[in-house]
Amino acid sequence: MSLLTIENFINNEHVKPSEGSYFDTFEPARGVAHALIPNSSKADVELAYKAASAAFPSWSKTSREERAKILYRIADLIEARLEEFAQAESKDQGKPVELAKTVDIPRAASNFRFFAGRILHAVEEAGELAGIGFSYTQRMPIGVAGLISPWNLPLYLLTWKIAPCIASGNTAVCKPSEFTSLTAYMLCSVLKEAGLPAGVVNMVFGTGMGAGQAIVEHPRIPLISFTGGTVTGAKIIANSAPHFKKLSLELGGKNANIVFADCDFELALKTSVRSSFANQGEICLCGSRIFVQRPIYEKFLSGLVQGAKALKVGDPTLKDTDLGAVVSKEHWEKIVGYIELGKKEGGTIECGGQKPASLEVEFQDGYFLEPTIISGLTPNCRVMREEIFGPVVTIYAFDTEEEAIQLANDSEYGLSCSVWTENGRRARRVASEIQAGTVWVNTWMARDLRMPFGGMKKSGLGREGGDHSLDFYSELKTICLAD
Ligand code: NAD
Repeated sequence: MSLLTIENFINNEHVKPSEGSYFDTFEPARGVAHALIPNSSKADVELAYKAASAAFPSWSKTSREERAKILYRIADLIEARLEEFAQAESKDQGKPVELAKTVDIPRAASNFRFFAGRILHAVEEAGELAGIGFSYTQRMPIGVAGLISPWNLPLYLLTWKIAPCIASGNTAVCKPSEFTSLTAYMLCSVLKEAGLPAGVVNMVFGTGMGAGQAIVEHPRIPLISFTGGTVTGAKIIANSAPHFKKLSLELGGKNANIVFADCDFELALKTSVRSSFANQGEICLCGSRIFVQRPIYEKFLSGLVQGAKALKVGDPTLKDTDLGAVVSKEHWEKIVGYIELGKKEGGTIECGGQKPASLEVEFQDGYFLEPTIISGLTPNCRVMREEIFGPVVTIYAFDTEEEAIQLANDSEYGLSCSVWTENGRRARRVASEIQAGTVWVNTWMARDLRMPFGGMKKSGLGREGGDHSLDFYSELKTICLAD
């Protein structure tokens, strides 16, 4: 079978990598190679940088109306190709097509639409300065941005960077994850068709250590927006430090899901099944540490096990599939390694832990894993502290509100948290004590694009969303005019 060959996208043209080398990318559901990815080098990043740099003077002076018009067109074109994008995202990443169709791809379109609207309606600050005159602010586009994204929500997270970056008048060199390049490649033709001028968005495919690091170390790329693992985030801080780059880092998590005895039990249970296992647990916001108040612990655990066992794992193209395959063989092995560690650490596997026995022949080499619940671990076990990023959750009983807060905050991460209670005062008290960038009360994954998004502690640096994104992608200047 001949494999699809992906090319870099520089100056609105598809180009081969300068050293001409490619590597295979695999279809997680079948465990077979399905495309060739350019193994781009420093030279390719330089070509992309030159294109982005040449496009910057004109794009940064393009009116906000014109920029918004193009962003709206991009959104429309993504939506018009919803089915095609969803099929590709599923084939490349392993997730159910239905999830890509209802979450990933629509959200990619709304990222462009949201920032188109945001720049159209943005008003700068201004005010009289008594006895002197008048001050106002101006947002200046910065230049060429480096945008580096992960594999779990490929198009969704890449467009969360591209949209505010170009809406603010910058140009970009993007590096999608080497595991999931397909929808980023498809996006290139959408950008061109929507009328985005050549060089405004350039896509360089390849590895983190190759193309990714070359972007981070490029002396004339002054800002880097990165979403990915915490260890990589630390390398990016170190490698960009000599250049004083502006950094936005969205990193890993080990999110708590706190269930109080006074919650709406059915809603908490149903949502916890989703927040544990959606996208095979490969969402940075999944609630992987479940803390349940003792009076309802046994009932909740049994409901959760029942809910997990009822999830259908397999063919990602079927409408009723809940979990597809995890992204790669290495990742599958890492997750299974954590399940084994959980057993060694004294945990009980309440359900899952295996590759499903019922897979059809064509999926038997795929990277599937049953939803797994581990009980009996203590909070200092590695499985309860380290990010697994797969369909594996731990469950633990607590007694008091103070203990729940302490357990949730006892982590080096601080990305998100869910709190389940019908007591409004408790909800406010707990939410205000939790050390996480986002706290949901009686819900999960509700995203308001106007609100800041980001992590505390080792979950990240900075906030994106609404004007926080515009702040990152522009330099804010104060101009004072004397009378
Ligand atoms: P990763 O850190 O391995 O890779 C992310 C991206 O960085 C990829 O494009 C990779 O090629 C590139 N990269 C790797 N090393 C690099 C280097 N030295 N210099 C520059 N670029 C480099 O992460 P991943 O495995 O793709 O994604 C999973 C991680 O992402 C998890 O930890 C997850 O929690 C996190 N994540 C966080 C958020 C968030 O919003 N906080 C969202 C999604 C995923």
